[in-house]
This record gives sequence, C-alpha cells and structure tokens, in this order.
Amino acid sequence: MGPKILVTGGAGFIGSHTVVALAEAGYEPVILDDFSNSESSVLTGLRSILGKDIPCYARDCNDYALLRSIFREHQISGIIHFAAFKAVGESMQEPLAYYRNNLGSLITLMDAMLAEGISNLIFSSSCTVYGNPDQPPVTEETPVKPAASVYGNTKQIGEEIIRDVCAAKPLKAISLRYFNPIGAHPSAEIGELPRGIPNNLVPFITQTAAGLRKSLTIFGNDYPTPDGTCIRDYIHVMDLAEAHVSALRYAMAHADVHLYDTFNLGSGQGNSVLELVQQFEQVSGSPLPYQIGPRREGDVVAVWADVQKSSNLLGWKTRRTLKEALADAWRWQQKLAGS
Ligand code: UDP
Repeated sequence: MGPKILVTGGAGFIGSHTVVALAEAGYEPVILDDFSNSESSVLTGLRSILGKDIPCYARDCNDYALLRSIFREHQISGIIHFAAFKAVGESMQEPLAYYRNNLGSLITLMDAMLAEGISNLIFSSSCTVYGNPDQPPVTEETPVKPAASVYGNTKQIGEEIIRDVCAAKPLKAISLRYFNPIGAHPSAEIGELPRGIPNNLVPFITQTAAGLRKSLTIFGNDYPTPDGTCIRDYIHVMDLAEAHVSALRYAMAHADVHLYDTFNLGSGQGNSVLELVQQFEQVSGSPLPYQIGPRREGDVVAVWADVQKSSNLLGWKTRRTLKEALADAWRWQQKLAGS
C-alpha cells in the first residue's frame, strides 16, 4: 500500500487525470469533491482505467471537521489541492463567492493539515500570475503582475498565503503554475466536461468539429505575433498530471520542513490559435469552420513557459506532443457524442 494522498477537486478535469497518475505511480488517492462543477460519471471512468474504485467524499472542501476526520481515517500523507472556482468571467461578477471559496477552503485546509501534522501540500496555481509578460518565455523569476481577474487574484493571494504559512509553520508546499492544459486520457474514459458553451479554445474546437457549434470564432488576428493570433503554451493534461506526482515526491523527500517553491508547468513551446486549428484539422482529417472575430477583452498576447527549473528540480518533462493532445481531445469528444 502506497502513501495516501487527498485530492481535493479530484473529480475535475486536471484532478481526475492526476488521480490516474498518482495511482499509476503507486500512491493511493482519495477524492474530496463537491461535484459543483464535475460529474459523478468521472468516477466510473476512473474505475475503468484503474480497475478499482477510488474512495470519494462528495462534500465541500471548506469543512474543517470533515478534513480532519478524512486525514485521520485514511492516514493521509499529502494533499493536492485543486478544489476551486475557475471561471474568469464569473469571478468578475461574483468576487466574494470566489474569494470565499478559493481562499476560504485553502485556509481551512492548511489549518486542518497543521492540526493533524500533515506536511505536504501541492497547490494549483496558474500562469495568469505573469499577466501579459514583456518577453516570453517566462521563468519562475519573471515578475508577477497585478492580476487581471478576481480568479487570477485568488491564485496570486493563495500563493502568498501558502508562502507565509510555510515560513512560520512546519509545512512543505509547492505551487504549480499551469499553462494551458488540453487533451484527455488516451482511453477516452475521462476528459474535460465544460458546462454550457466552452470558454476555452480546445473544447470549442472539438465541439465545433462534432457539429455542436457552428463555427469557431478566433478572437483577433491583429496581434503582434507571426500570424496575428495569440500564442499560448498548450500542455497535455496527462503530462501536467504526472508533474503533480513529481512535485509531491520532491516535497516529501525534501529535508527543509519550511519548503516553499513555485514551478512552471507547460510544454515550453508557444503555439498560435491558427496553428492549433491547423494541427487539429490534420488530426481530425476535416477542415474546421472558423472566422476571425474581435479581440477578447483581457487576453494576453503571447505567453509560454520556461520549464528548465521543473525539469532540473522535479526531474519531470513532458512526454506527449501537441498532436497527441489534440487527438486525445478529439477522441474524448467523439466518445461524448456517442454516449
Ligand atoms: N480563443 C479563441 N476562440 C475561442 C476561445 C479561445 O480564439 O473560442 C483563443 C483565446 O483568445 C486565446 C487562446 O484561444 O488566445 C486560448 O484561450 P483559452 O480561453 O483556452 O485559454 P487562456 O485565455 O486562459 O489562455
């Protein structure tokens, strides 16, 4: 029996893939998820991939007594904390709900960890902390810019809270700054489940290819980039998931009981929106209907990760290509359409 790891938000997109990566690496994941933005069908998908049930608490993470009892009952050794609201637009409409949920649950979680003497925490952060960088790629030393959204601010403040707690208390924590996770498990048993019209590019592309949306709108082609469309660092969600296992291993083995560090998780490569469309067309074998629309407010022009530090210290690197990620996203969409 491997170490038991609590995965808050473990039924979500990145959380569920991380549950797979943990189990495959010999850990025993336990899920805590209130299913406010995830589906119970994820548990069925996990069972088919892993051949066993993963223990799951369908409860809110902001519950001190519950956390302490889960920690004790399962003898939890570490926590990967995904549970959070994540819609940028909604965060601007409902700032208090975002601050209360995203920061409240983090504080409650760390309180319960300290009370039970659990010292390893992996936190989901975001490359939004870099804002519109002057010069990509961004390293972890690139200055953090004022957040452009309430959601982004919850990630920045979350990082600061964890850093301060680690300095004062015996807590080892790592913030992982995600770039753009895409794709799905290659089995197509789990993947992204956006509610309503997707905000993100790849689910919008796959839904358009499946005929659920008429056409993709590319948000602007007059940016100062080679083809005029925005550039992002797209990373296969299984590569991202595996990085959490590496980060956990790193924290657990670290001698400094006050360890706090941040790592970029991206592919290290920038691709434009048009490049993504072209690559997707090659994967699916059909042209994708699209048109150019106006810029989307708040969009960063170009950002991609320098992943040297993650590779050097965590011993992690991506293993899957952009094409594989798009093929897996497409397979998942086709499975959803057929089910
Ligand atoms: N994008 C687009 N059309 C869409 C959705 C996204 O052109 O329907 C572009 C968006 O402007 C950005 C890129 O795709 O340049 C990635 O957007 P996404 O929302 O997936 O990620 P984020 O903006 O958070 O990096």
